[in-house]
Amino acid sequence: MVLLKNITGAVILLCVLLLGLLYSSAWNSSRVINPVKQSQILPKRRQPPVSPVPGDAPGRTDVQTMTSWSVPVVWEGTFDPVLLDSHYQPKNLTIAATVFAMGKYIRFLKKFLETMEQHFFTGFNVHVFVYTDRPNEVPQVKMASGRQRTVKTVPTLNRWQEITSSRMFLVQALIEEELRDYADFIFCMDVDSEFHGHWGTESLGDLVGVLHPDFYKSHRSTFTYERRPISKAYMAPEEGDFYYAMGVFGGNLQEVQQLCQTCAINFLNDSTKGIEAAWQEESHLNRLLYSSAWNSSGVIDPVKQSQILPKRRQPPVSPMPGDAPGRTDVQTMTSWSVPVVWEGTFDPVLLDSLYQPKNLTIAATVFAMGKYIKFLKKFLETMEQHFFTGFNVHVFVYTDRPNEVPQVKMASGRQRTVKTVPTLNRWQEITSSRMFWVQALIEEELLDYADFIFCMDVDSEFHGHWGTESLGDLVGVLHPDFYKSHRSTFTYERRPISKAYMAPEDGDYYYAMGVFGGNPKEVQRLCQTCAINFWDDRIKGIEAAWQEESHLNRYLWINKPSKVLSPEYQWQDFRPDSPEVHIIRFSGIVKYYAEIRPNWV
Ligand code: UDP
Ligand code: MN
Repeated sequence: MVLLKNITGAVILLCVLLLGLLYSSAWNSSRVINPVKQSQILPKRRQPPVSPVPGDAPGRTDVQTMTSWSVPVVWEGTFDPVLLDSHYQPKNLTIAATVFAMGKYIRFLKKFLETMEQHFFTGFNVHVFVYTDRPNEVPQVKMASGRQRTVKTVPTLNRWQEITSSRMFLVQALIEEELRDYADFIFCMDVDSEFHGHWGTESLGDLVGVLHPDFYKSHRSTFTYERRPISKAYMAPEEGDFYYAMGVFGGNLQEVQQLCQTCAINFLNDSTKGIEAAWQEESHLNRLLYSSAWNSSGVIDPVKQSQILPKRRQPPVSPMPGDAPGRTDVQTMTSWSVPVVWEGTFDPVLLDSLYQPKNLTIAATVFAMGKYIKFLKKFLETMEQHFFTGFNVHVFVYTDRPNEVPQVKMASGRQRTVKTVPTLNRWQEITSSRMFWVQALIEEELLDYADFIFCMDVDSEFHGHWGTESLGDLVGVLHPDFYKSHRSTFTYERRPISKAYMAPEDGDYYYAMGVFGGNPKEVQRLCQTCAINFWDDRIKGIEAAWQEESHLNRYLWINKPSKVLSPEYQWQDFRPDSPEVHIIRFSGIVKYYAEIRPNWV
């Protein structure tokens, strides 16, 4: 009640606007289905399971668990199947699978289908398409509810090379004709195989390849790529990331269709020249999965890397399994299989070459209210030196002192817009009003303009490279106070009455409010939700322990980020060096609250 009396006119205005937003706020389940893009909000009644904290996170140090372009290499022990399933189950996915049982290979089909029933996406909708020239010999295998099988009869082919390669053609036709609007993911598999263990949602992605067991420990010079330049599957000696096996590949329908089409066409193209790649379609698959990292289409997240590179572009060489970048002293992947970005886990040259052709625009917001205006100059100057240099950057400065905004020279392609906002008298309201202003900015100006946005504290300076490795659909940063601590120490809001409430067993990490970001749509949703929840608390007369940081933490627990940044991206100057932190990219300066905050006691 006392608090209510203090609400100013500006605050009431915000409230009204926010209530309006409440109704448009998106609690709907969109069709975004990749956990790396996962940004949905779980239905409120569902309680997400507990996921590991930094200390007890799953992980592997004996194998490469991340590629140099920051996508997971899925090994047992790197993911939490319960957590992943809880994300995917509500989406009611349909997984398609294709298997070819031509000629005498029909005899492998029974065991394939039987073991598939036991291990492959149990509990999900699965639709298996069996291609055969012997439809009468297809065995009857009992399928669980939600699972079905369709037999497709195809003509007999007489060369095994053609049988194997015709799969690419038939799969792309199947997707085109039947699956595009029906299935969410598809896997294409060899029939001469059996399932022996769990195969579930951890394997989902927009474009998925599998490391060939012969080569996962070998240098690329040993890979059996096609080496004749005349072939469309040609790989030069310095090319290639991994050697992928043809026995399994998959992804979303669009990506797999494109992959199959291209492989089929390239195979035909070779045929007309009278050649056949060394390992037929496997050679073509390898070429495609290599060059697909290099596309310049509208797909902008390298974890969704799936298009085909314009052929003239030569991708730079990326590290090999043996010489891949990596860190074993820190957690580099979350239990929901997204990267935790630490220096040494990514290849900035490779990543930049992925992103440069996309001509991205990166928006950034910074608030310099009241006396905090004095931090703005250093912030902007150092940002010029380190933040997405060479990219289009648009910084939005929010201030109640527009006349005091310093003139900082910006490189070409970079610009700044000053937004004047009313003065607020409580620092808690200043910091929290950011969520409101950012969502409004996105709504009004950024949705069709910026590709990504970062929101940052002004009382900070840039000290090191901050580039495309930080991009993702929803990005949080590990708070430097807590990245080594158990969740029981996290300063989450603990009062159940608050919308930021976290129970003792809740939470993945403690995220810092000084930096968050993602694509505009996701960040808008985050800001809307946090703003509304903040005011919801306010109406009840409470304020979360760490204001909007508490709400951010709750949001990022329910909506797992698709990328987590290490504390390199939000250090604090007063901190002593830490052995894990090899580079400080952005750091909060030492400040004296009593001097700068309007209401500090
Ligand atoms: N802020 C501001 N004026 C204020 C208080 C806060 O502009 O009087 C903005 C500014 O962008 C600041 C952010 O809110 O970086 C968060 O506040 P602060 O940095 O004081 O929080 P801390 O990093 O100390 O938790
Ligand atoms: Mn700060």
